[in-house]
Amino acid sequence: MAIQERTYWLTTIQMPKGNASGPLPESVDVAVIGAGYTGLSAARTLAKRGLQVAVLESETIGWGASSRNGGMVLTGMKLGVNKLISMYGREKTQEMYAASLKSIECVEQIVKDESIECNFSRCGHLEVACKQKHFDEYERQAEVVAREFNHELRVVQKNELGGEIGSKIYYGGMVDDVSAGVNPARYVAGLAVAAQRAGACICERTRVELMERSSHNGSTGWNLVTSRGGLRARDVMVATSGYTGKVTPALQKKIIPIGSYIIVTEVLPEATAQELSPRNRMIYDSKNYLYYYRLTPDRRMLFGGRAAFFPETADSIRRSAEILRRGMIEVYPQLQDTKVEFVWGGTLDFAFDIMPHAGQMDGMYYAVGYAGHGVAMATYLGQKIADYILSGKDENPYAGIPFPGAPFGLYNGKPWFLPVAGAYYKFLDWVS
Ligand SMILES: Cc1cc2nc3c(=O)[nH]c(=O)nc-3n(C[C@H](O)[C@H](O)[C@H](O)COP(=O)(O)OP(=O)(O)OC[C@H]3O[C@@H](n4cnc5c(N)ncnc54)[C@H](O)[C@@H]3O)c2cc1C
Repeated sequence: MAIQERTYWLTTIQMPKGNASGPLPESVDVAVIGAGYTGLSAARTLAKRGLQVAVLESETIGWGASSRNGGMVLTGMKLGVNKLISMYGREKTQEMYAASLKSIECVEQIVKDESIECNFSRCGHLEVACKQKHFDEYERQAEVVAREFNHELRVVQKNELGGEIGSKIYYGGMVDDVSAGVNPARYVAGLAVAAQRAGACICERTRVELMERSSHNGSTGWNLVTSRGGLRARDVMVATSGYTGKVTPALQKKIIPIGSYIIVTEVLPEATAQELSPRNRMIYDSKNYLYYYRLTPDRRMLFGGRAAFFPETADSIRRSAEILRRGMIEVYPQLQDTKVEFVWGGTLDFAFDIMPHAGQMDGMYYAVGYAGHGVAMATYLGQKIADYILSGKDENPYAGIPFPGAPFGLYNGKPWFLPVAGAYYKFLDWVS
């Protein structure tokens, strides 16, 4: 059978429907742009508190990264703790790290409160070292995390790694038992249903084309022009992640869209699955140009990576299938004869400092910059920004940190430098 070029997760669920035709609400308290984890989590919180909310989504519910990701609900941030401490100091880093732990509890609580059937499981994650010096760094990192954040990371020596992973290519690993796994499409679908149940109107096929500050009956707000007509909103929350476009140019200039690709195999025999991942962890390696992989709830191997740097196109998706299959066999030679059944791609959002950012800019609220760590953090920041809109107090953990743009302003939203950056990261993986 030919490889299906579509998201495997979407074959496991019927996505809920939003309002895709007919008139839009004339005016709302909050217009949220983007129906992924960030936007839906914010909409759910706001609607539960009685606000009128419209979620405007140019495609369909969960169409962006939120239905296409690896489903790894991870602790920590993309940058390592030593780097974070050097950038922000101990206290701010402690606050951010604690938020990363809370973000997992936040997902778990929503799944429970809203009875979302999405295979959420606290299976933990395993990071594996591609070089001896990466492994040596694990020891130091675990020590800092225990001391500064009172959180346990368990270092796994090479000779014990067989209990965690059926691959012989790594130099050791580090486990965090607090991380979790989820079926991401089922989760985003559940969030959408929860937001709708709370009263939010999710408008699919509604691309926001223009937004302008306005004044109406003496109060300020926004006029939004969409592909389905106009609406007024007192506040706007932008939740467009890697798909941020020219409607919000100030934000677009600060976000680099980067492609990530995934293959999924046929269902594996039970014994093979058990051999490859005896503890069913969410796994990723220590490279910049990393691989991430896991078993799906129905026992397929899901294997992802940055097979191309540019956001997905039909061509890059097709090429990624073979690149990722070769990567998967390097890790797991046992899968040499296993069929790959699905391949797809999606777009990640990286800020220039590789940090999440949330708050208010030019009067609009936003949360972006998850850098591949967004399942839990997008849910959490969606809630935090909703709280900000409700209370006027910004208590998100990234409030107040600088949000840098490109050096010398050399970026207008078109990432011309990605091939250079891709080559640079490959080079770094070779030398470091
Ligand atoms: C292949 C892949 C694998 C990943 N794996 C993981 C993982 O295992 N663990 C993890 O934590 N994170 C992972 N991530 C990252 C994670 O998926 C994202 O950080 C998260 O889904 C971001 O959610 P979001 O709601 O902010 O954005 P998205 O889900 O991307 O939603 C943004 C939405 O905005 C809409 N939009 C954009 N512009 C407009 C407009 N003008 N008008 C209306 N709508 C608009 C888009 O259509 C889109 O649906 C992965 C990402 C990818 C692509």
